Amino acid sequence: MSERTLVLIKPDGVKRGLIGDVIARVERKGLKVVAMDLRTLDADTAKVHYAEHAERPFFGELVEFITSGPLVAMVLEGPRAVEAFRALAGATDPVKSAPGTIRGDHALEIGENVVHGSDSPESAAREIKIFFPDRF
Ligand code: UDP
Repeated sequence: MSERTLVLIKPDGVKRGLIGDVIARVERKGLKVVAMDLRTLDADTAKVHYAEHAERPFFGELVEFITSGPLVAMVLEGPRAVEAFRALAGATDPVKSAPGTIRGDHALEIGENVVHGSDSPESAAREIKIFFPDRF
């Protein structure tokens, strides 16, 4: 019944002091934080994490941005955790994400949209292995 998802509070979110806001929303929703770490990603790890976007025109900027400063990596657990966090995060383009969501409340630019959340249970399993190889 329970599912896990990998969430990142991206460098813009950390810089802007939004760690507490994001975690408060996660906990208020009822999702459980089962792993958490503040770290700065190296480019190789970032490229593996975002491998599905390797051919997209924004890939270089995406890797540069995600490695630009510390981020918070978390594993959340709960019923339909993948979908539940994506609903909290809002649409990828923050201009289109609904007010009340993390991106809808805090962001305007697609490249700096505060959080990442796995898009499927399969992606979650792959991403959790990248960020927390020995934990689960
Ligand atoms: N992104 C971007 N430009 C685009 C599309 C995506 O900079 O045109 C960035 C954006 O920060 C997004 C990330 O690439 O969060 C990954 O894209 P994806 O489509 O997987 O969106 P997400 O799953 O993060 O909502």
